[in-house]
Amino acid sequence: MQAEIVTIGDELLIGQIVDTNAAFIAGMLNSIGVSVYQITSVQDEEQHILTTLGEAGRRADIIIITGGLGPTKDDVTKHALCRFFEDTLVADETVLAHIEELFRNHITTPISDLNRSQALVPSGAKVLMNRYGTAPGMWMEKAGKIYISLPGVPFEMEALMRDEVLPRLQGAFERPFILHRTIITYGMGESDIANILETWEDTLPDFIRLAYLPDIGKVRLRLTARGSSREHIEEAVGQKVKELYTILGDVIYDMEQDEPLEVLLGRLLTEKGYTLATAESCTGGKIAEQLTSVPGASAYFKGGIVSYATEVKEEVLGVPSSLVEAHSVVSEEVACAMAEGARKLLKTDYAIATTGNAGPSRGESDAPVGTVFIGLAVPGRVWAEKFNFGNHREKVVNKAVIRALEMLRK
Ligand code: ATP
Ligand code: MG
Repeated sequence: MQAEIVTIGDELLIGQIVDTNAAFIAGMLNSIGVSVYQITSVQDEEQHILTTLGEAGRRADIIIITGGLGPTKDDVTKHALCRFFEDTLVADETVLAHIEELFRNHITTPISDLNRSQALVPSGAKVLMNRYGTAPGMWMEKAGKIYISLPGVPFEMEALMRDEVLPRLQGAFERPFILHRTIITYGMGESDIANILETWEDTLPDFIRLAYLPDIGKVRLRLTARGSSREHIEEAVGQKVKELYTILGDVIYDMEQDEPLEVLLGRLLTEKGYTLATAESCTGGKIAEQLTSVPGASAYFKGGIVSYATEVKEEVLGVPSSLVEAHSVVSEEVACAMAEGARKLLKTDYAIATTGNAGPSRGESDAPVGTVFIGLAVPGRVWAEKFNFGNHREKVVNKAVIRALEMLRK
């Protein structure tokens, strides 16, 4: 079973936006055992779209298209689909009612005929309802091939893929059973892990493949297995995962449940009923941003202070100036005092603090570029750890954020 993805939009071809839709769709298709043969991006140009659909249909069984479904003149996908299927546009009553409802309840401008025209779909298309927007998804078939057209707006497309497309595709074909298991490791580089795993990798049976996915501060190890017997595959992969835990031990942070660190932390803090504050210097509020990206974070995250200037560390967080003079602003002592200060100020159980030099130049402290101290204050105890995260500013900051969350988790 093979698929192709066609993303449509001039903005993709002038480099204005990155094609995240294709990546998302490819991931989803893979998760149900459908491999993607090719990804093509095309301009909003009818003839180009038509040619691309023809070519994709010769190679693949499933063609997923995104973009160009808007009501404006620059969006031509629907016209291209009509020509491709030799069909005409007809109004879909359910979609029209949905568009009118959206305008009544969520959109402040009055509905126009242009908006209503979003309810026009090729007469042979099966409509996939788009809860979040006005452009519906469409499912069409021709010569045994499935063509699915989705809106370009990423969150609308994602909801349609998850709720409408995948369940239907799963029912449409016999597929091999595919299992992915991803283990997240922290604090060790890709090549070091590969060295350790060299002999173990040779013991993997043919139907299990290992992939290394390095990221900032962490490496994910993904085992993928495919075959006809679910039981057999689950057992074999389970055994290999166990072996990985034995070999790598402490380096393994977790098995990926698709649960990011900040979500896991939120769960742990909520379970324990603890509250948290942040005092951030070199991370500039990014730890707070990560924490608050989780819905419901107000249950445990009280707030944070971005104390970038030394006087804010002193005046707001109460870090003694004598401490700064004696140890430098980038120091274990100051990180501890910042954490303690935030904990008192915001009356929380825990507080996390960062102070460092992200570069590129040395800055007002003497600390070498990349030096970061992360302080953690808990009831009755405060301590800080020293790190060096390299000489790339963005990377230093991102690593500090991950490490800070990681320290909290432990
Ligand atoms: P609408 O009904 O909102 O007009 P549409 O189907 O016409 O939706 P487009 O106009 O092509 O979609 O794209 C809407 C927005 O979605 C674009 O401005 C862009 O930011 C985003 N977008 C479109 N295609 C992609 C893509 N392949 N990857 C990431 N973002 C995309
Ligand atoms: Mg467009």
